Amino acid sequence: MTASPDRPGPPPTGPDQQFQAHVADGRLWLQTCQDCGSAIFMPRILCPHCHSLSLQWAPASGLGTVYTRSVLHRRPKPGDDRPTEHAIILVDLDEGPRIMSRLPDTPAADIRIGMRVRARIAGEDGARVVLFDPEESKT
Ligand SMILES: [Zn+2]
Repeated sequence: MTASPDRPGPPPTGPDQQFQAHVADGRLWLQTCQDCGSAIFMPRILCPHCHSLSLQWAPASGLGTVYTRSVLHRRPKPGDDRPTEHAIILVDLDEGPRIMSRLPDTPAADIRIGMRVRARIAGEDGARVVLFDPEESKT
C-alpha cells in the first residue's frame, strides 16, 4: 500500500497558488519581471522572456482585447434551460499576457474578435474565477 492521499499537503506557495490566492481575494494580479518589465501569465518561477527569477506581483488593469473565441456546445438536459452553447475566449490583457476565460453574460454570437473587455472576479469564496464583461457595459 502507498501512503494515504488524504494527508493535508503543505501550504500553497507556488506561483499558481499565489495567483489563485489573489483571485480568491478578488484581485487580478500578474507577475511582473523586475529585469525586463514583462507581465507574465501563466504564473511561473522564471521570466519566460529573460529567465530572470526577479518576479513580483502587481495589480493588472483587468482590461484586454478578445484574441479569439471558440464556441462549445453541450447536450441540453431536461429542466435545464441554460444556453446550450458558451464561448471560451482568449484575451490579450493590456499588460501583454494572454489568458483563457469566458464572457458569461454575452451571447456567444455577440462576441467579436478584437472587442474590448474588462475582467471581474466571480464566484463564491474558495472557488473564484476570472471572467470578463464587454468594456462598454461597465457600471
Ligand atoms: Zn524578464
